[in-house]
Amino acid sequence: MIKGNPVYNQILKHSLFEEKGVKVSVKRLDKIHPQVSGNKFFKLKYNLEKAKTEGQNTILTFGGAFSNHIAAVAFATKAEGLNSIGIIRGEKILPLNNTLKMAQSNGMKLFFISRESYRNKTETSFLNELKSKFGDFFMIPEGGTNELAISGTSEILEKADQEYSHILASIGTGGTFAGLVKSLLNHQTLIGISALKGNFIHQEIEDLLKTHQIFPQGNTQIMDSFHFGGYAKYKKELIDFIWRFYEDFGITLDPIYTGKLFFGVWEMITNNQFKKDSSLLIIHSGGLQGNIGFTEMTGIKLPPLSA
Ligand SMILES: *Cc1c(COP(=O)(O)O)cnc(C)c1O
Repeated sequence: MIKGNPVYNQILKHSLFEEKGVKVSVKRLDKIHPQVSGNKFFKLKYNLEKAKTEGQNTILTFGGAFSNHIAAVAFATKAEGLNSIGIIRGEKILPLNNTLKMAQSNGMKLFFISRESYRNKTETSFLNELKSKFGDFFMIPEGGTNELAISGTSEILEKADQEYSHILASIGTGGTFAGLVKSLLNHQTLIGISALKGNFIHQEIEDLLKTHQIFPQGNTQIMDSFHFGGYAKYKKELIDFIWRFYEDFGITLDPIYTGKLFFGVWEMITNNQFKKDSSLLIIHSGGLQGNIGFTEMTGIKLPPLSA
């Protein structure tokens, strides 16, 4: 696997945190690699390793048109000397957005399928169809969540992180959350903030943990009230928060995952949901490449990616 930069925890200083008596740090997974960013670096690590030991030279995976996972797979497979195929949800829109243009320039072959076909993408008949079309491949599921991905994300928390009382992270498919649960210590609370609308997420995470035989040591909690209308939906309040956060701390967030995460944490601190002397570690799961496409599509400017 390509080499990542060292990850560090950055302490945030703010009058709100002082007033509430909480310590707040950010784990800067966004700094691990410019193209294989954040949690996707951890999710891909053991999958690519396995593909290589199995002698597979083509990786096939799935994602939406702005997917951080697609962007990460395209770059990482190229760096590993592997081929990649991206099955993209929805119809092809030209010109391609930044995510897909970059994926293609990294050698990923893109295939667009209807939203209906995409829904059936894990059915055997559909996978067989793909095999007859593309030959043999190593499949990584949507968002990259599988057993090997969870082995990777269980390495996000390090030994030194035992000092924190609360770990906070965004939830999409839950692969990152599951890895964090796996490495959680019994004096810690893990809070996942869902990027999706709906209380189905509680059951989905419960099922995911059961499937992978993960039994939490500490406490876990899922917040489903910071989705801003649903996956990839946003409101002006969220965009304003992203700008304010950038001005206060020089850290760039995205409107899909980390913006909602940090907004939620901010709300929770404001509403006294953490006891005095709590020490929070918020996982910045990276994925800022999608901001370019977001601005292309909406015309809404976001803070610079390199921050
Ligand atoms: C993919 C992604 C997530 C969601 O991770 P899951 O493991 O699918 O829950 C969160 N944050 C960012 C920035 C992502 O790109």
